[in-house]
Amino acid sequence: MVVSRKLICECGGVYKEKKVDFEGFEVPAMVCFGCDNETFTIAQSKKVFQLMNTHKLFERRRKIIKVGSSIAITLPKVLQQHGWKPGTPVQWTRVSNKKWNLELVD
Ligand SMILES: [Zn+2]
Repeated sequence: MVVSRKLICECGGVYKEKKVDFEGFEVPAMVCFGCDNETFTIAQSKKVFQLMNTHKLFERRRKIIKVGSSIAITLPKVLQQHGWKPGTPVQWTRVSNKKWNLELVD
């Protein structure tokens, strides 16, 4: 039997799941539709901590290396558990002069 519980805010509003910006990451959180207060469920906070731990690996500096006539960047092996496996297509877009966004292609 599925029991659905409503999460009620101090203002009397009802929390609903919504994507929010947390430290530059888009993550699911519970947001009060009355006062916009944000909170995380235990499951949501576990996901956020996992994301933050993975991000610490991303923060490590890497050097561009030369491979034949191309250039490359090696990625930490732990990223494989997040879908960054050899052969997986990726695409990048330019965000600003020094910043590029690299993402997995579904
Ligand atoms: Zn509220």
